[in-house]
Amino acid sequence: MNLYDDIAYLKGVGPSKAKILATELHIQTLADLLDYLPFRYIDRSVISTVDSLRDDDNFVVLKGMVNNMQTVATGKFRERLTVDFFDSTGALQLVWFAGTKWVRERLKPNVEYLVMGHPTLFNGQWQITHPEMEPYSYVDQGARHPLMPVYNTTEKMKQHGLGTKALARLTETLIDNLPPIPENLPADILTHFRLLGRQESLAAIHYPDSRTQLDAARTRLKFEELFFLQLDYQYAHLQRTTRSQGRIFHLVGNHFNDFYTRLPFPLTGAQKRVVREIREDLRSGRQMNRLVQGDVGSGKTLVALMCMLLAVDNGSQACLMAPTEILATQHFYTFQRMLEGVGVNVQLLTGSLRPADKKKIKKSLAEGTIDILIGTHALIEDDVLFHDLGLVVIDEQHRFGVEQRSKLWNKSLVPPHILVMTATPIPRTLAMTLYGDLDCSIIDELPPGRHPVRTFHRYERNRPLVFSFLKKEIDAGRQVYIVYPLIEESEKMDLKNLQDGLEMVQNYFPRPQYQTSMVHGRLTADEKAFEMDRFKRGLTHIMVATTVIEVGVDVPNATVMVIENAERFGLSQLHQLRGRVGRGGDQAYCILMTKDDLGYTSQERIRTMCSTTDGFQIAEADLRLRGPGDIQGLQQSGALDLRIASIVDDEPLVKATRDTVHDLLAADPTLSHYPLLQQHIANSKNKMLWSKIS
Ligand code: ADP
Ligand code: MG
Repeated sequence: MNLYDDIAYLKGVGPSKAKILATELHIQTLADLLDYLPFRYIDRSVISTVDSLRDDDNFVVLKGMVNNMQTVATGKFRERLTVDFFDSTGALQLVWFAGTKWVRERLKPNVEYLVMGHPTLFNGQWQITHPEMEPYSYVDQGARHPLMPVYNTTEKMKQHGLGTKALARLTETLIDNLPPIPENLPADILTHFRLLGRQESLAAIHYPDSRTQLDAARTRLKFEELFFLQLDYQYAHLQRTTRSQGRIFHLVGNHFNDFYTRLPFPLTGAQKRVVREIREDLRSGRQMNRLVQGDVGSGKTLVALMCMLLAVDNGSQACLMAPTEILATQHFYTFQRMLEGVGVNVQLLTGSLRPADKKKIKKSLAEGTIDILIGTHALIEDDVLFHDLGLVVIDEQHRFGVEQRSKLWNKSLVPPHILVMTATPIPRTLAMTLYGDLDCSIIDELPPGRHPVRTFHRYERNRPLVFSFLKKEIDAGRQVYIVYPLIEESEKMDLKNLQDGLEMVQNYFPRPQYQTSMVHGRLTADEKAFEMDRFKRGLTHIMVATTVIEVGVDVPNATVMVIENAERFGLSQLHQLRGRVGRGGDQAYCILMTKDDLGYTSQERIRTMCSTTDGFQIAEADLRLRGPGDIQGLQQSGALDLRIASIVDDEPLVKATRDTVHDLLAADPTLSHYPLLQQHIANSKNKMLWSKIS
């Protein structure tokens, strides 16, 4: 048997099942099946009995039968399903709130089941909510294995006889006939960390002989996964810093100096440090690839502007790419205002520009009369040609896909320096893993005189009080935002929600005394800009909006941010929105409006928001609550596409592999002693687009 043989040739598969495996799980070869890991194991040796349940049992396995199935309606579309479960020592209740139809159709009396879950005492009776269940015959089938693997399967697979039981049978056949699998980690590393061999680990991860062996197998496979991730990133980083050519900007010229001396405020210590770090990069002769992290309002844009002036001082052009037209336009006006009299030609290029204007800009860009170009995705179109692009700044980078960035890279013979600014801080662990090949600067200080935004959680029934508070602020000359969630611009419900909201606001705040603006994704760029501008100039008091205002919008006189249906927003989004206020000297407020009954994670999100304004703490909480795979926009990077390791839970391993790879490359940068690793690098070269890009 060869690992890359078609799965159809495995005993028990055949062409039709092979097809299902391929379409449902992308399993096409034996190696793919080997890589499809169980998500849990059933340990027959630890079956408990109902009479022995204890309050501190986290997870139990029970064996018994079910009867007395009952459905109770708990809402218009919701129901609760309860089933009595009993073994020879007693009975308890199993409860489902979701997926009840599926359970109803599947559970049968007089069948012995294994029931797994977390038991709780409810009114003196034991309950298990949403237990996992398998017929007992399942573990009987694997009588020779102390631990039975449980695999995720899809509904369609189950219909075609490929449930967890069938999959376990296939992996058993595979493991019993496993061909030799070559080791891919260097021997010295295996010895140093006392890691299990690859072959043994892969067999044991499916059918372990014991918990101890399972743990060892898991550790080994996690290590392997994280090790190669680190190797890819750090090797790419090494290549870039030692091989790649970069333009040298050694001059600090008039543009920079004029601007700097005219700044109405001193830079913060953190801003100065980051500007210095970037200056070092720009004259190192290597291409810069730097990530600047900083909380909302920490002054990243200013840092970026100064770096662009450095590029201009050295005869190059610079561009800044923003994720939305609103943001690009705003940056443009800010830059124009700040650069007045500095003698720099700044232009704006967005999709909604008139064709004639676009053409004009492109022409001056190619001729080199434009120094700084600001824009949206329009910047990366193929016909946008720079005379000499030296620095690219990417703002709020989460929203730019990998491919988009690679297009920028190609706009210049010698690759331009790249500065990426994040909208929201990323937790340290994540940043080091995700941006292993980027150098990272952190602006960890806010400009002086900012009062932290005070955040409150309020319910619908508190609305009169909330509105009268808004009235007080508006009457004192300030402005407020009221933001509604709009998950999909096309969701009719959300738009209706917004319109109802507007009506309610206008009822409470009647014209002409109070003026209201409304901005949402269905408006044209011109309409949006018009409304934003009215609000900015203080002509309207209230901005009712969807999240289109999420990033970057800057109206210092706005002091209150009301977020409606706050439970529907993610943490980083809430933090971004809150960052829209508190930019002037006045005390600012954020009010999170939610429904009454919140789930656990919503509650935690709201609690986090009310207890801290530190973006890094919020990012950590976000990671904890949602897991890295969910964090907005991060999946596309590929780094989080981890099969077995978790960046959150396996932090010690993340660190160990990072250090190991670091030491290894420091001692042997070309990997001359590690032909296996060289081979890996060669194989993954084409996959590593990412490293080239940012
Ligand atoms: P970010 O892009 O990190 O959210 P900005 O660069 O937009 O932050 O800065 C937010 C506001 O703070 C802007 O109005 C900017 O002019 C101002 N600002 C930036 N740096 C300083 C500083 N050192 N002192 C005072 N105000 C500053
Ligand atoms: Mg900004």
